[in-house]
Amino acid sequence: PAMSPSSHHGGAHGWDASGAPTPMHKRLDGKVAIVTGGARGIGEAIVRLFVKHGAKVVIADIDEAAGEALAASLVPHVAFVRCDVSVEEDVERAVDRAVSRHGRLDVFCNNAGILGRQTRAAKSILSFDAGEFDRVLRVNALGTALGMKHAGRAMMARRYGSIVSVASVAGVLGGLGPHAYTASKHAIVGLTKNAACELGAHGIRVNCVSPFGVATPMLINAWRQGHDASAADDADADIDLDKIAVPSDQEVEKMEEVVRSLATLKGSTLRPRDIAEAVLFLASDDSRYVSGHNLVVDGGVTTSRNLIG
Ligand code: NAD
Repeated sequence: PAMSPSSHHGGAHGWDASGAPTPMHKRLDGKVAIVTGGARGIGEAIVRLFVKHGAKVVIADIDEAAGEALAASLVPHVAFVRCDVSVEEDVERAVDRAVSRHGRLDVFCNNAGILGRQTRAAKSILSFDAGEFDRVLRVNALGTALGMKHAGRAMMARRYGSIVSVASVAGVLGGLGPHAYTASKHAIVGLTKNAACELGAHGIRVNCVSPFGVATPMLINAWRQGHDASAADDADADIDLDKIAVPSDQEVEKMEEVVRSLATLKGSTLRPRDIAEAVLFLASDDSRYVSGHNLVVDGGVTTSRNLIG
């Protein structure tokens, strides 16, 4: 039967008949979710939090070893499907897998993303590489649009669903990353608004979350690339973008310290879990009237002058 968002209000939503919150508010109880790029980093935190809140999750990632291992550790709540989000058949297959396994799709999280090259040459509009630009746009922008397309199709039948994409503060401000990355993240914010306008008529909400500076393998790898690039201008050739080494505890701590110094909010450290909580809010019925929104999670950075100079 078709479900309207309003039919999700009430006891199952975390309040008892008198309107008081129930003790363990499982915000995705019985829901089925797909998380792209869910094998590590922010995506892994989203997968773990979704499971904690009662969801069945399908991880869609290109990293089979990490994805399978995470799924195995969360059996029977999580399954893995190999999926390159820039390949339409892969995205379609991931959606089909979730629907055939669980009979429905409630949440689709477009989290997979790549930064691309971080060297000085790669970062300049005067010398960036067209092929690398295309690669980043294909994964981040096209990949997100394909997720919206196939998730939207699957969700339409039941007139219910939430699509949450992970953009970035680089989707709001300039000067924070390579041109391709900035363009691709602005594209995600734009796609979110457009898709929200269209899919709202089918009861589907579309939102995004924009993190700043989470000490994941992506960010630490970028930091390493930046250091390599300043040591030698021709360092581009030596960087293997597909090999992102697992960061050491010291590297994570150092990165967290840099982010803490930029955040206007003092006294806490931004963790992948903080991004996952924002995604959970937008994925669940707690945000049942929120659509087309970009929820920035940045410790106040983008509203301050701290990023300048
Ligand atoms: P990460 O590199 O640590 O993890 C990314 C995951 O995506 C990996 O599991 C990887 O295998 C997967 N992936 C990469 N390309 C893929 C593809 N083509 N198809 C499917 N899966 C693919 O990165 P992260 O920091 O956890 O980033 C997750 C998201 O958050 C990205 O969209 C990123 O742009 C965004 N983000 C991160 C930060 C940050 O500070 N870390 C800030 C803003 C936005």
